[in-house]
Amino acid sequence: SSDDEDPKLKKKVVIIGNSSVGKTSLLLHYTEHRFRSTLESTIGIDYREKDLVVSNQEVHLQIWDTAGQERFKTITRSYYRNCDGIIVVYDVTQTESFEQVKGWVESVHKYAEEEVPILVIGNKIDLSSKRAVNERQGKELAKTLGTEFIETSAKTGVNINFGFEMLTKKMLLRN
Ligand code: GDP
Ligand code: MG
Repeated sequence: SSDDEDPKLKKKVVIIGNSSVGKTSLLLHYTEHRFRSTLESTIGIDYREKDLVVSNQEVHLQIWDTAGQERFKTITRSYYRNCDGIIVVYDVTQTESFEQVKGWVESVHKYAEEEVPILVIGNKIDLSSKRAVNERQGKELAKTLGTEFIETSAKTGVNINFGFEMLTKKMLLRN
């Protein structure tokens, strides 16, 4: 197969979650080390690519962003097509976005391939004075849903690389 000739594995990741939780910002920070505080939350960026090495394996990630359709809950089967990993983001300052993580994970089970690894991200931890969901709640939810979990800030960049590496390792276990 072409995978034998090209040692670099190609993997598709999709990012979902409520509007304005920081999906586009996480992707921009991860791939371009940029953060924009004025980012219009309805704007998405199709996808970005990123090369990384985990467990001595070169991996080429293609990471898809929503184009704002999450506002209308109109993300459909085609968005999840052939995806190898999923990131569900909530905002630790917005309880509602946390409460809807379960619904997002259910849509993954409905539309994506079975057993696709899922990483739940609690984002915006730099806004500590506004925090409404603590880390323990996030961990417990992830445990209940059978997903990985991490907290990040797309503003400071904390834990973003670690999160993508964690998900990529999970994806490689399925090869
Ligand atoms: P999306 O709708 O999920 O793609 O969310 P965006 O990435 O568009 O972010 C929505 C708003 O939250 C923007 O104003 C971002 O600048 C801001 N934002 C995103 N992530 C963070 C973060 O980690 N910390 C802070 N303070 N603001 C963030
Ligand atoms: Mg967006």
